[in-house]
Amino acid sequence: MQPLLTPAYVSSGGEVVAALETDAKRGLSPAEVQRRVHQVGTNRLSPEPLKPLWLRFLQQFDNPLLITLLLVGAVKLAMGDPQDALVIISVTVINAVIGTVQEGKAESAIAALADSVRTDVLVLRDGAALQLDSEALVPGDVVQLEAGCKVPADLRLLQVRSLRTDESALTGESVPVEKSTGALQLEAPLAERSCMAYAGSFVTAGQGTGVVVTTGDATEVGQISVALNQAVSLSTPLTRKLVGFSRTLLRLIVLLAIFTFVVGLAKGRDWAEMFDGAVALAVGAIPEELPAIVTIILAIGVHRMAKRSAIIRKLPAVETLGSTTVICSDKTGTLTQNRMTVEHVYAAGILQPLRDLWPMDDAGKGVNLALQETLLAGLLCNDAQAGSDDQWVGDPTETALLAAAHSVGMNHRSAHDQHPRRDVIPFESERQYMATLHGSERILLKGSVEAVLQRCSHALDAQGQRCVLNAEAIQAAVSAMAGQGERVLAFAIGRGAQQQRLEHHHLNGDFTFLGLQGMQDPPRPEAIQAVAACRAAGVKVKLITGDHIQTAIAIARLMGIGSPGEVQAMDGSALAALSSDALAEVVDSVDVFARVAPAQKLQLVEALQANGEVVAMTGDGVNDAPALKQADIGIAMGRSGTEVARQAADMLLTDDNFATIEAAVEEGRGVYLNLRKTLAFVLPVNGGASMTILMAGLLGTPLPVSALQVLWLNMICSLTMSIALAFEPLSPALMNQAPRQPEEPLLNPALIRRVILVSLFNWCVIFGLFFWAQHQFGDLPLARTMAVQGLVLSHLVYLVAISHWRQVWPFRLRDLRQAPAVPLGVMATFALQGLFSQAGWMNAFFGTSPLNGSQLAVCALPMLLMIPVTRCAEWLDPMERRSPATLG
Ligand code: ADP
Ligand code: MG
Repeated sequence: MQPLLTPAYVSSGGEVVAALETDAKRGLSPAEVQRRVHQVGTNRLSPEPLKPLWLRFLQQFDNPLLITLLLVGAVKLAMGDPQDALVIISVTVINAVIGTVQEGKAESAIAALADSVRTDVLVLRDGAALQLDSEALVPGDVVQLEAGCKVPADLRLLQVRSLRTDESALTGESVPVEKSTGALQLEAPLAERSCMAYAGSFVTAGQGTGVVVTTGDATEVGQISVALNQAVSLSTPLTRKLVGFSRTLLRLIVLLAIFTFVVGLAKGRDWAEMFDGAVALAVGAIPEELPAIVTIILAIGVHRMAKRSAIIRKLPAVETLGSTTVICSDKTGTLTQNRMTVEHVYAAGILQPLRDLWPMDDAGKGVNLALQETLLAGLLCNDAQAGSDDQWVGDPTETALLAAAHSVGMNHRSAHDQHPRRDVIPFESERQYMATLHGSERILLKGSVEAVLQRCSHALDAQGQRCVLNAEAIQAAVSAMAGQGERVLAFAIGRGAQQQRLEHHHLNGDFTFLGLQGMQDPPRPEAIQAVAACRAAGVKVKLITGDHIQTAIAIARLMGIGSPGEVQAMDGSALAALSSDALAEVVDSVDVFARVAPAQKLQLVEALQANGEVVAMTGDGVNDAPALKQADIGIAMGRSGTEVARQAADMLLTDDNFATIEAAVEEGRGVYLNLRKTLAFVLPVNGGASMTILMAGLLGTPLPVSALQVLWLNMICSLTMSIALAFEPLSPALMNQAPRQPEEPLLNPALIRRVILVSLFNWCVIFGLFFWAQHQFGDLPLARTMAVQGLVLSHLVYLVAISHWRQVWPFRLRDLRQAPAVPLGVMATFALQGLFSQAGWMNAFFGTSPLNGSQLAVCALPMLLMIPVTRCAEWLDPMERRSPATLG
């Protein structure tokens, strides 16, 4: 293959096809594809270079606390205290290193997840239509585009049908542009090359066929290297709130530190000692590790959700999921398996099971003529295609129709040879029909019963004659099928007027009704369980579908949506008649919305949100994008949905399964609980330490812990203990309680009371042990060491009490293997604290002193005292045993 000599848009489609040595009808051969892959590589954009490590490291210092610490280190150095300076600076650096590593990991994990969802394209190879990963494309491939897909490479368009693309990623122009096939002038700017479809743009409407001209980095986007995927942002409402919280805290603490410093000086104490006190206060009081831990918890949440098939595209969704109060779900494919099989057929007044027609040979002979025509229409008015090895490729609704026709002996290929297709109006959810033109006279129409019947004036009888249309009999047949949860499609035939093209206005009211086909789509068993789990968790489930109201109600019953035996349903036309206020009033009590147009999904989301609900909404079509954006959690399908919907969504389901939404809600709740646990654990350490130092300053006693020791204390608590809480497993109670109030702050009054209680206890431990030891042994380093050890030991008890281990009894090895984080943290803490007091170099560094057995025993005493304190804390702030859902 030679590279093109002139840009593809100045030549005609045929010339481009010839120049690329391909075939517009058959595509490339596998051998040729192999050669071209060798020549040009895979169709992938080289990844954006990551921000250099040093820059990310430096960015960690965009944190007032770390800067304060560095300044303090510098002052210490200037004061001739290099050892303290070294410790303070190295702690700062360690913190920054941990931050850099963790953020890098979280970012690349989320980016990798987003990448893991592949983009499928329909390619013609060796005459067969194949669904392939877009990375497999090479120049010369013939690709089909349809509404909602992402243009996979730069294409020269060969055929278009109302094709429109959104090229905003390339040109900044947000209005979709109309495409055509004619050649253009060489001067045409990128935005006006209407015969090209560029990689990175999206098809918003219509259909088209194009030949791949360039792939990968050679495409226009590759050339201008715009970042197509939004940069992964680790900032969420919660992390921003926490950053704000620690800034306020910092200001307060700096004020307090200055205050202690001044009070100490006024009491005539040495200013170097007071400086140490002020520093200790500043370092001890600020939970500088919190933002990093929150990022870790969120990242773990993202990871766990991915393991359960939910891919988070936007980090804030992890938090929001936990407070979801309503899930609005699609029916087809999400609650059901999207494995359609035609069960019943109706034509010429007779409703019968399809299998009664078996066995049949000779293309359906012997069946009444109307039924033959109905099945033939299902075969011809159909966009599904024969793929390789007898598989049908396409929409399951349509493949079911192909299978039905084949089961009675009709043949796809010969039917198409007999009635070649001239033109098509593809199916769109809004219009609920699809039509094809065969020859120049035969127009076939298929779609929802409403859409088809309104265009029919007559019906076909068993002898193939036009007769009067009995709408009531047809409706009765529809009810019989839909009542069993079947999706019903109607078929009709019309006469064209020797035309080449098919337009919507050709589908006038003079069609002849042929018949109906009703198809079953079995529910997903795991989705039924998930609906029940949502109910227990106080999360409402609503079914939103384009399907018939009776079909929707029948499926809702099967799924357990709505109150048993009484499913409240409303259809799209009733919905359209309501004002937005009226809708907000009734929206809560309706379980099923049927025949809903995509635009109405947006109204539903808004109505629910007006009632204060936190709404998760699924969607798959192009026109679902606004609703997905508006919803608190927009959910797109990783398998079946359109690329446009995926771009708008916060979360993707790799298995398209409702049960995955429920799993994600559970994980979201777990994330929130772990965040609360972390706060409940970390803040009292800071609180206890700062109270201690403040009191010592005011009372004029020596500091019970030195600045360096407070630094150590903070590091130990965050690195070995509170990190363990981030890995806590899900609690079985999570889905037995009502959703959290959306406006409830993370630091709610209950949690604040808990933090104050434990802080007070910590303060007592430090002060008590320090003064007791001071009095007993008269040795400052020893007394300080005992105070620190006592605090850490009692905090170990608190750690276990706050983690799920409190409920694990008796211990089994299995529990250890499943959730090793807390036990590991406890062991690491023991080891480090051992070094802290017993190792000579640590003594020299931190001004500690080795403890003997009885001193250690005294330090262990607060562990016992901690037990009733954790009980009280639990009573003040029960964490996860909140009032159970009032279930209705
Ligand atoms: P949902 O996906 O929510 O079940 P759709 O919007 O896909 O609903 O379909 C709405 C209605 O349009 C269906 O009930 C059916 O009657 C009709 N329909 C669905 N798919 C097709 C198709 N491929 N061709 C013609 N009509 C269709
Ligand atoms: Mg659908």
